[in-house]
Amino acid sequence: MTNKVEIVDVAPRDGLQSQPKIIDTQSKITLIEKLIDAGVRRIEVVSFVNPKRVPQMADADELLLSLPTHDDVSYIGLVLNMRGYERARDSNINEMNCVVVASDTFNQRNQGATTEETMINISEIMKLNASTNLTAGVTIGASFGCPFEGEVSISVVVELARRLADLGFKEIALADTIGVAGPSDVTKVVESVQAVIGDAKLRCHFHNTRNTGVANAYAAVEAGVRIIDSSCGGVGGCPFAPAATGNVATEDILYMLQRMGMETGVDISKIIETAKWLEGPLEAEVPGMVTKAGLFSANG
Ligand code: ZN
Repeated sequence: MTNKVEIVDVAPRDGLQSQPKIIDTQSKITLIEKLIDAGVRRIEVVSFVNPKRVPQMADADELLLSLPTHDDVSYIGLVLNMRGYERARDSNINEMNCVVVASDTFNQRNQGATTEETMINISEIMKLNASTNLTAGVTIGASFGCPFEGEVSISVVVELARRLADLGFKEIALADTIGVAGPSDVTKVVESVQAVIGDAKLRCHFHNTRNTGVANAYAAVEAGVRIIDSSCGGVGGCPFAPAATGNVATEDILYMLQRMGMETGVDISKIIETAKWLEGPLEAEVPGMVTKAGLFSANG
């Protein structure tokens, strides 16, 4: 198995979406440019949501028009419904990432529909998308637990993943949206899902709400996952999930992967520098631990 792990940095969208301070468009662009300069090649930049519901994403269209163009960089936009898909299709985004949540209550809060209704929408979107060159990925939210319904059974996640692979998704992400999983849960869910998605790739998305984010990423990589979502500085949360705090920090994940002998192509020093820079526009400290502690040097 390859020792290459791909990092998808979600700071500009997942990271900034839940911050109390709304960041100006130019600072978002600077953040994205810094991530690219550090070597990140896939970046979640916007969510095509109603700006009245999520004011942090109100500048999505303006931001997309101002993004630097790089042939080897892929920009990802979140698509929660048909309206979002139409906006994604008409924009210059490279990848859409659909979202379905494994529990009805959370899906209802997140996108105003039941899980089954969203699956039908996603199937319609995939039919329409067959004639475009928009790469399609999908995230199963609350794959490890729901803030409203509690434990989510593995069989529910497995069945959703199987159906999404059947719809033609080449990449499926399992998200611990509220940060409740432990590493042994990750091993079980990843192995069960991998068994039913054919050659679709698995991506994992962890939140460090209960301090298990890095351990969960370790379990995912050990189980064969080679694409990990993380957020520069560990900024993030979810506006529709109570007390959902930071995504796993990109610098913390990079540090762990480096110690495991994995390659990412991302420069950890530049990510730390970017995380420190981000504290300026955010007017707050970022939670990433490696940014606080610094890199380890044998010479002290
Ligand atoms: Zn997230």
